[in-house]
Amino acid sequence: MFCWRDGGSVKSNCAKGVSGMFRKLWQSGMIALARSRRVRNFAQHSRATSFLSGKYVSGETPAAGIKRAQELLAGNGIRSSLFYMGEYVDDWDLVTQNIDNKLDVAARLGQAGLDVHVSVDPTQIGHHLDPDVVAGHAERIAKAVQAAVGNKGGVNCLMFDMEDASLNDPTIAVHNRMQDMGLPVALTLQAYLRRTRQDLQAQIARGSRVRLVKGAFAAPPDIAFTKRADIKANSRALIGDMLSQQARENGFYPIIATHDTALQDFTIETARANGWAAGDYEFEMLLGVREDVAKALAAKGERVRLYVPFGRDWWPHAARRIGENPANAMLLMRSLFS
Ligand SMILES: Cc1cc2nc3c(=O)[nH]c(=O)nc-3n(C[C@H](O)[C@H](O)[C@H](O)COP(=O)(O)OP(=O)(O)OC[C@H]3O[C@@H](n4cnc5c(N)ncnc54)[C@H](O)[C@@H]3O)c2cc1C
Repeated sequence: MFCWRDGGSVKSNCAKGVSGMFRKLWQSGMIALARSRRVRNFAQHSRATSFLSGKYVSGETPAAGIKRAQELLAGNGIRSSLFYMGEYVDDWDLVTQNIDNKLDVAARLGQAGLDVHVSVDPTQIGHHLDPDVVAGHAERIAKAVQAAVGNKGGVNCLMFDMEDASLNDPTIAVHNRMQDMGLPVALTLQAYLRRTRQDLQAQIARGSRVRLVKGAFAAPPDIAFTKRADIKANSRALIGDMLSQQARENGFYPIIATHDTALQDFTIETARANGWAAGDYEFEMLLGVREDVAKALAAKGERVRLYVPFGRDWWPHAARRIGENPANAMLLMRSLFS
């Protein structure tokens, strides 16, 4: 069942099939743990797991996030996107808390002279409670970003993260509405979804800023590519579109968010072939994941940004990061049993 024959020997394809299956099981298990309230309460109140928050999170407060962003810029020329954690909330007090933290960090980024770049998940600002409130809340944050920027340069925006497939249409709709109002916004699209090529074409036509990721969620094969090789092939096709002549003429801004060095190399080759210079597009990576790669890219003159989370509700974010690489099982064990 796992021994396909296209390319490579039967034996090596068997091994790949087993490791691919293990990878999928590991990732879906960690996604389930990321959403479990019980595990979250344990992890966030246990000293044993605090090592993990230290790895993937800058600290609890907006000030901690700003401090890390300043260090990254001063030490490595790396920019940041600040993310206050707290996803899939179903409580109005938490929604208010999320919005207040986004507003606070936008103002602080402006005062610190950093890019005012704030990432937001629609479920953080009320999607599950009442989808109709999301646009109003996003508008407040985007206006705060705009006000904090003043007339300084840089790459400044409210970046909409993309959550599971049920959130695609509402997230794109809110992004487009804010963009039509002239507010500084950007959108994340996921290469694992079959619809993304079409969604990307629409954003290229609008001259948007789009962050391309592979996707941290699972979905059935009728709507998603489920094999890593297919997701990677789709990523290449999408990067080709993002760095096309048409995209350039439309003022589109490509953001390639991956830790995959083969895709990063492909991006640089495609960019140069199509007349894009370093800084006309950017790479984005996650705090705590392959930071050596981020530093090497920045040292080569590429524009690089790290996604810098802060806040107390760190378990869902950390659990998804752990799930992205089975080798991180060791990290989890180490933090639980040390
Ligand atoms: C800035 C940013 C924003 C994101 N926003 C979203 C979003 O809004 N919605 C969404 O669905 N997903 C988002 N993601 C997550 C993304 O979809 C992928 O799940 C994640 O980036 C892993 O895919 P990859 O292409 O980076 O690397 P992979 O192809 O998974 O791996 C490439 C290499 O990097 C290593 N690697 C990757 N991740 C880790 C890790 N956590 N720990 C150690 N090594 C690792 C792998 O082992 C491998 O060597 C975001 C990612 C980034 C970088």
